[in-house]
Amino acid sequence: MKLVSFSTHEGPSFGVVRDDSVVDLGKRLNGRYSDLKALIAADALGEAAQAAQAGKGDYPLSEVTLLPVIPNPEQIFCVGLNYAEHVKETNRETTEQPVIFMRVPASQVGHGQPMLRPPESQQFDYEGEIAVIIGRGGRRITEADAWNHIAGYACYNDGSVRDWQRHTTQWGPGKNFYRTGAFGPWMVTSDEIEPNTLMTLVTRLNGQEVQRATTHMLIHGKRWGVVDVLLDTPRPDLGDFSIQYCDPARPTTYTRGPGNRRRWEIMVMPGDDATQLASREWLWNKLARWISPADARLERSAIYTFHSVVANGWRRGRLLLAGDAAHQTPPFMGQGMAAGIRDASNLAWKLGAVIRGTWPDSRHRGAGCQPPWLVSQMGSACKVMAPVFNARHDAPLTFTLRRC
Ligand SMILES: Cc1cc2nc3c(=O)[nH]c(=O)nc-3n(C[C@H](O)[C@H](O)[C@H](O)COP(=O)(O)OP(=O)(O)OC[C@H]3O[C@@H](n4cnc5c(N)ncnc54)[C@H](O)[C@@H]3O)c2cc1C
Repeated sequence: MKLVSFSTHEGPSFGVVRDDSVVDLGKRLNGRYSDLKALIAADALGEAAQAAQAGKGDYPLSEVTLLPVIPNPEQIFCVGLNYAEHVKETNRETTEQPVIFMRVPASQVGHGQPMLRPPESQQFDYEGEIAVIIGRGGRRITEADAWNHIAGYACYNDGSVRDWQRHTTQWGPGKNFYRTGAFGPWMVTSDEIEPNTLMTLVTRLNGQEVQRATTHMLIHGKRWGVVDVLLDTPRPDLGDFSIQYCDPARPTTYTRGPGNRRRWEIMVMPGDDATQLASREWLWNKLARWISPADARLERSAIYTFHSVVANGWRRGRLLLAGDAAHQTPPFMGQGMAAGIRDASNLAWKLGAVIRGTWPDSRHRGAGCQPPWLVSQMGSACKVMAPVFNARHDAPLTFTLRRC
């Protein structure tokens, strides 16, 4: 169902869009619900659907003035810096957490209404977003249950007054000028869009495409299931190495663990049922291509959110960052711990030299390259750690090292 808030010469109302017409639910439900927000809060979408079926539409869509989909929302939470392309375009750093800011209802306009550039600024910019309309409220809602609280989705032009947005670290001033956020034309109810559906967001400026992103490109929240199994029967066919299955339908990593332990890292895909993630059924189903309960037992599993983040700086005075605090890679890179050990060796070596007075502080500060000595240490560290990950202790290890 496509739901709208609108006004006519008879006043404001709300309804369902059917083809090119609007069914006036305000009238047809005999004023039982004061507005669209009240209808959603009363969980009366079924009643609305039924009322909208009868007869013809009440107004041609072209003859009503569309209002913001929900003209009177209680809260408008906005999530910023969540698309990699937008972070790049606006010359910002990727942050470990998204930016959260608020909008006030008075900053909104309906579809087809002019958005207003305030005279204080020349830097009024478009920003296409997907609005998520929360229907049922709650507190301490689990991630798996979150989908059940979504009433629907809508387009949102989060018009931004850029210079005011950047006055301080708070974005609010640039996001709340009068009539700068366009909400609509309508919301599509969530029963038509399955949880985790891959959505594509396209923004056009005077007909020209200026923005295209899919929800799969969101930076925050790349979830993977990590599962360890213990083999009950030998399965040499699985492979003695780590294997990346670059299958666009389901990227997966297989890792040969020590003894009879094997690990799979399985990407959570749009369309996966969030309530089923990491259940035994879900895991065995995703592993079916390689293994079944006839051959192995599930040892442990977890859903991780993988990050790729690098600290802006690794040193401030006597404070030095190393390991995941300085740089984090998704586990399938197999570099997290190895790189952390390299950091520790690197730091110990340099700090020792600084303390002995054989390494002037200025050189230390500028040292971005690894000395050959360190590269060989990294090789040694890899050899020390390799047996932990590789069951083939006897197999020769090869490294490709690059001097910089
Ligand atoms: C599923 C998975 C698979 C992985 N597979 C691999 C792999 O195959 N190969 C590989 O090289 N790496 C892998 N990694 C990455 C690897 O585990 C990490 O890179 C490594 O553990 C980072 O070490 P660290 O010491 O820098 O940080 P951590 O191991 O995170 O250690 C930081 C410690 O600080 C503690 N801490 C945090 N805040 C505070 C505080 N305020 N006060 C006191 N203590 C605090 C934490 O509890 C933690 O114990 C994997 C990671 C995951 C999640």
